[in-house]
Amino acid sequence: MHFFEYKDGQLFAEGVPAAELARKFGTPLYVYSAATLRRHFEAFDSAFAGVPHLTCYSVKANSNLSLLSLLKDCGAGMDIVSGGELHRALTAGVSPDKIVYSGVGKRADEMRQALAAGILMFNVESAAELELLSAIATDMGKTARISLRINPDVDPKTHPYISTGMKKNKFGLDIESSLATYQRAMALPGIEPIGIDCHIGSQLTSLDPFLEALDRIMRFHERLSGLGLKITHLDLGGGLGIPYNDEEPPHPTEFGEALVKVLKDHPMTVILEPGRVIAGNSGILLTEVVYTKKTPTKDFIIVDAGMNDLVRPSLYGSFHAIREVEPKGRPDVDVDVVGPICESGDFLAKDRNIPAVEQGELLAVFSAGAYGFTMSSNYNSRPRAAEVLVDGDKVTLARRRETLDDLIALEKN
Ligand code: PLP
Repeated sequence: MHFFEYKDGQLFAEGVPAAELARKFGTPLYVYSAATLRRHFEAFDSAFAGVPHLTCYSVKANSNLSLLSLLKDCGAGMDIVSGGELHRALTAGVSPDKIVYSGVGKRADEMRQALAAGILMFNVESAAELELLSAIATDMGKTARISLRINPDVDPKTHPYISTGMKKNKFGLDIESSLATYQRAMALPGIEPIGIDCHIGSQLTSLDPFLEALDRIMRFHERLSGLGLKITHLDLGGGLGIPYNDEEPPHPTEFGEALVKVLKDHPMTVILEPGRVIAGNSGILLTEVVYTKKTPTKDFIIVDAGMNDLVRPSLYGSFHAIREVEPKGRPDVDVDVVGPICESGDFLAKDRNIPAVEQGELLAVFSAGAYGFTMSSNYNSRPRAAEVLVDGDKVTLARRRETLDDLIALEKN
């Protein structure tokens, strides 16, 4: 459910015509809907009302400060994976005791930064990381609250690049090694093991893998209790999928109900790290048709947004719905919607059946709010797109468009 709707023959972002935004701010342009973000957060968070919990929005999905600040005001904590994301979360005013730090490659300087800030918990992913964290915390006279990220070896049945909880993935620790690593954590100075963490993948469209992973984690939890370790926090990661096309992922309420049923008799604070389900359908990408081009084998619509702006189709073969901003009622055609980048992998849609459009017209790429701008780059020396946040009739320029001078500002001539 989102607030990008057609009214009077044109696309609106809440109360504002999308075409007006494109005219004012240029294209490519990311447009986010505040009402959608609030609605998604509240739907997700309230699904866990049956247990003590903390919903830590996963900053990597969309890290714009305006969004972080909006979600903080809804009560969100944050899941971070770098010192940069920590800086963003703190700048947005998120309380450190609502921040959890995931990621396989935390550096010493990032650990220091997070310990100095006093975050809630580090989700530790290897024995080596645990040793380094202990040394740094001891040196700083601090205690690092930790969980170990368990790799439960469950197939999340999603794209291989976003599967993270299988034996072959780089993430977390297998269950047997985890037991020994918890014992080590109990003995190490500067370390306080308080949690168990798990994140099996992203864009999951079925509950089964979540429940299978939870079952393995709960059995593991019993073994930890046998060691005399009291676990107070259970971090179940993110991963709930969204409809991009014809997927039918479980509604957050269904997801919450299924997990709460298992967890309600355990006196632990449940941490959730949703990203895509909050931000994905809260954003669209507006782009202008630069040219149309017919070749003997294919018709192309060449737009001004490329893989540097939205890499998901090129990287994962992902589907994003593409619609006219001001529909003209022309018949459908089969086309590739491609960007200006010098790569044949630069496309937003392949073999797509959409109404014919003409040079200068606007298209909206839907479901672009998560892993859109955050994965964008300056490839081909293209300044990154602007981002706006619409709240009813109010429009905030959440990030100005980069300029040509921004492109070279850090370089030596
Ligand atoms: N938590 C961790 C550790 C992740 O790696 C990710 C994304 O891959 C997330 C949470 C957010 O996942 P999603 O956006 O699918 O909810």
